Amino acid sequence: MVERQIEARGIHNPGVIAAMQEIPRHLFIPPPYDQNAYDDNPLPIGGGQTISQPYIVAVMTDLLHPERSDNVLEIGAGSGYQAAILSRLVRRLTTIERIPAVAILARNNLKLLGIGNVEVIEGDGTQGYPQNAPYNGIIITAATPEIPQPLIDQLADGGRLVAPVGERDVQELVTLEKHGDRMIPEYHGEVRFVPLIGKHGWEN
Ligand code: SAM
Repeated sequence: MVERQIEARGIHNPGVIAAMQEIPRHLFIPPPYDQNAYDDNPLPIGGGQTISQPYIVAVMTDLLHPERSDNVLEIGAGSGYQAAILSRLVRRLTTIERIPAVAILARNNLKLLGIGNVEVIEGDGTQGYPQNAPYNGIIITAATPEIPQPLIDQLADGGRLVAPVGERDVQELVTLEKHGDRMIPEYHGEVRFVPLIGKHGWEN
């Protein structure tokens, strides 16, 4: 998976490559879909939700520019796979999941691998998690019509945010870097994610 889908498509960040080699994706996917865990696809995880395509996980992780000392926030824990990858690259990760059963799935999957630097919070991630802010990085793994203001407020100066921004059916992958009260955007192409549902996202 890593050679054919990630390195072959231009991701060479050694930390990202090592984390993706170490974390077994099949442990994050319920049967029968776990048989296809190393295919180049998103897959169902229950509750109408998906684990993202491995290549997109690699791209978003790379775009976040994770550092060992970072405190990071993820919105959309899902299976916990993206959180597990980030856990290898940063000091502390808080991940928020809206659907209670999916939050339990993420927590159990992370526990199974003995990952101790990730906290799974059940709730509306569009409001962020001010208790653990400020964050050096924020990654939104669901499609948002715009960047929720609470997340911009909780991002540290110099911090980066990665998110799929746009319509419900198709979005642009965007990075924003915070410099004082300015957010500097960069655009990275078209993606398709399930919707971010909440106070500062889609209504339902
Ligand atoms: N990062 C996940 C992984 O590694 O498996 C994949 C995320 S999945 C594409 C999107 C997730 O975002 C779903 O589990 C969905 O329930 C969750 N979600 C949607 N709106 C949310 C919100 N407002 N707060 C937190 N999670 C939300």
